[in-house]
Amino acid sequence: MTQLEHWIGGGAVAASNGAYFDDLNPVDDSVYSRVPAGTADDVNRAVETAYQAYLKHRDLPAAVREGWIAKAAEIMERDTAKFADVLVDEIGSPIAKAGFETRFAVSFLRAAIGVPRRIRGETIPSDTLGRFSMSLRQPVGVVAGITPFNVPLIKGIKQSAMALATGNAFVLLPSESAPMIADLLAKLWKEAGVPDGLFNVVYGNGAEIGDVLTGHPKVASITFTGSSRVGKHIAEIAARNLKKYTLELGGKSPLVICADADLDKAVNAALFSIFMYQGQVCMGASRIYVERSIFDKFAEAFAAATSRAKSGELREPTTMLGPIISERQRDRVRRHIDDARAKGAEVLAGGEWDGNCCSATVLRGVTSEMTVFEEETFGPVTSLYPFDSLEEALELANNTEYGLSASIFTRDLDKALAFAQRAEAGMVHINAPTLHDEPHVPFGGTKASGFGREGTEADLEIMTEWKWVTMQSATAGAGGH
Ligand code: NAD
Repeated sequence: MTQLEHWIGGGAVAASNGAYFDDLNPVDDSVYSRVPAGTADDVNRAVETAYQAYLKHRDLPAAVREGWIAKAAEIMERDTAKFADVLVDEIGSPIAKAGFETRFAVSFLRAAIGVPRRIRGETIPSDTLGRFSMSLRQPVGVVAGITPFNVPLIKGIKQSAMALATGNAFVLLPSESAPMIADLLAKLWKEAGVPDGLFNVVYGNGAEIGDVLTGHPKVASITFTGSSRVGKHIAEIAARNLKKYTLELGGKSPLVICADADLDKAVNAALFSIFMYQGQVCMGASRIYVERSIFDKFAEAFAAATSRAKSGELREPTTMLGPIISERQRDRVRRHIDDARAKGAEVLAGGEWDGNCCSATVLRGVTSEMTVFEEETFGPVTSLYPFDSLEEALELANNTEYGLSASIFTRDLDKALAFAQRAEAGMVHINAPTLHDEPHVPFGGTKASGFGREGTEADLEIMTEWKWVTMQSATAGAGGH
């Protein structure tokens, strides 16, 4: 069993109060690592260290930062198996999901290699004769990153690579359930040549020390991924202190299947969209709307496919579902299924537990009185609803506080385009699952699903600050001549 320490100033730093907590393997809740229970002092020390490192290194040429990211991509590719092992044992990722995360991390790092040289401003025509006017993008200083338990590598890499590529220093508060990934990241950046102090990690309970980090006067920008509840709280702190922030939050993503869709393709996409990593994915298709004329046929095919979705042995490449992360989350999943059952929903597949694993569950006849109707379950549970027209499908799909991802299956171009334009979601996919991410796209959601966007272009908004600079002759009179 590994004992972690905070990573501050390029090396391990013991918890200031000597307190540690257990990080559990969700398969059997055995102790996987011991983790410092960070304090406000630890957070302050990490931010101060980051700020000093930023001041020391902020003038480094873009080519130097490009070198770190390029090297990090090589190391990530070399150490893929090591990262995947932690994703399996620390957060219960089936190996297929762990493979997706490690490949995405390599791909993101490669995409970010070009970022340092792309941080550009403009020359701007001036109203004043003889004035040379330009804009620069400068780093903000210290960026705070906060990650969720479910994709700790993807989010840890996205947040830290962009902060470092843009010339900032970074402090990471990783999910209490995924600290080991943060430790691997610290070692990756160190080996990639990032100077000490530019990448730091503080472990601990976000509810106890998170506000110290996000409210710290020397933290200029916050990039957060997690629940909408915590996201709204962080937005309030950021607003009070006029900080920049990006929020990547929860979802209740709709998948719409029209009668003209390729049924096999739609069934497979639905399966992947909600059951990959036991439904613990923000973009999970937890609401599936099916045109009434094919509703029964789809329901039968989907329920049959669902009962074949493999769960259990995480290192078996065809396993789709593993354990639910924590007792708190298991309670939530149980509560949603039991409540729906008690209020009359039909369970077409699943609804059973084997240890900490919940089987892939399909509900039908879900009504607005049931908790699962509007709350994010964050587990392997989806509901099927019929619709009669695209208008109705759009109305139902948009009837949610969330707005992360939305998909439609149809061969009708007009329907597809109408859906893409009118779906209230940050991301829309036509004839594809609701689960998608690429490094260079504007990733994120609307409504309660987020604020701002992530990606190698979009992140420049919060990780750099515009500055307008003018230059005029030192000797000529007003007007510059
Ligand atoms: P969570 O909100 O419980 O925790 C996320 C992180 O916030 C943890 O590191 C936690 O320690 C920290 N935290 C808690 N209180 C804090 C505070 N006051 N200040 C600062 N940090 C604080 O979420 P979770 O259970 O880890 O993750 C699941 C949620 O994340 C789901 O809602 C899911 O949809 C969402 N998610 C969204 C995306 C996306 O890209 N939109 C991706 C993955 C997960």
